Amino acid sequence: MHVELCKWYNGSDSPVLLMIDDLANKWVDTNNNGHLDLGEDWGYFKNSENSSFHYLNEKILKDFPWVKVTFFVPVGARVGMLETPLFPKKSLPMNSDEESRQFFRSIHDHPQFELAYHGTTHGKVGSRAQDFIQEWSLFQSLEEAASTIQEGTDIFRDAVGTDPRGGKYCGYTSNEYSDDSINQTNFSWWCRYWNRGMLDDPKDAICGQDQNPITNFDVKRFGSHNVIDIPSTVNGGLLNISQSDLSLKGIIKRALGNLLIRWKLREIKYLLNHRLVISIQEHIAPSRDDGKRQTPNIFDDYKSLIGIFEYLADKKVWYCTGSELADYVNLRDHVSLVIKDEYRFELNHQAPYRNQVISLAFRDQGPFTVKLPNDIQVEVVEGIVNLPVMKGEYFILKGGI
Ligand SMILES: [Zn+2]
Repeated sequence: MHVELCKWYNGSDSPVLLMIDDLANKWVDTNNNGHLDLGEDWGYFKNSENSSFHYLNEKILKDFPWVKVTFFVPVGARVGMLETPLFPKKSLPMNSDEESRQFFRSIHDHPQFELAYHGTTHGKVGSRAQDFIQEWSLFQSLEEAASTIQEGTDIFRDAVGTDPRGGKYCGYTSNEYSDDSINQTNFSWWCRYWNRGMLDDPKDAICGQDQNPITNFDVKRFGSHNVIDIPSTVNGGLLNISQSDLSLKGIIKRALGNLLIRWKLREIKYLLNHRLVISIQEHIAPSRDDGKRQTPNIFDDYKSLIGIFEYLADKKVWYCTGSELADYVNLRDHVSLVIKDEYRFELNHQAPYRNQVISLAFRDQGPFTVKLPNDIQVEVVEGIVNLPVMKGEYFILKGGI
């Protein structure tokens, strides 16, 4: 009998994560009319009409309720782009009042969503947008970084009720103290790099140094606590074809239409073929106080996102949050499959047994059923079975249930 641990849950080819940056208690009134218009809200307007969270649910997730979203939250008053903003804005910490706490908590408690940590203010503004310094580049020592993270996670805990388990560097930007600060403050996973950038522009510092696409688009570990590094691998605007670009290139792109989309989908096909992470990157809003549009964002990219999710609909993928991915990887890396004989095996776990679920793949022709140490029987479906990790012997029985 040939049995092995699956790389991903349920024997999937790839995990799929929708990651949305900068959900925050903030509003930029980009037309200065004192009312909320579509695309202006970052989370300040909660789930109300015209809010970005409402737009996300109604325009994108409604038809794909299986897609899971990990939101990256700047927990304090998120700064804008300029010292002297061009538009009025509101920006408050996520725990500024009971209604805000309740909004963020209800998202985090929903099984389809997770909130993760994305700094306190996101950084420091200058007189021009290009003078902006990202939060983790500001820290001049490990102590300074760690104590700011402590302040930030206190705000997060006050709003949400638990500590954030993962997060992302603001602007994917870090310095020599950053990785240690994440390791020391007990995060189990983090997003360090815009890994796709390695192919676009290898000189770009935010890409990391890994030039091998197979390892660059897979999970890694860093620090003495083996923090899991989840790569950022797909731009949510991947399938956009600009309708307003009047250059020859733009006209050709529109003429190519579906052909071009199929060609662009090769990026995702590559990740599936090599069983790598599909993490789709977005921002919650395009509105910036310097008059520019924040990209990628769910408003400009909603058709692209729908195209990506339609493409993935018949693929063998696992929709998960950052923490669900990290939990499976940790389990997979710490459980060993011990084959006793043709029909018996054990799952040895280095950590305490907590009934976490691991996936096994059978190469042999089924049907099979697995009897757990507690005598409950679980059917092997299309060669895959998801089993709670328990102490004791598992028996492989021929035939279905
Ligand atoms: Zn951000």
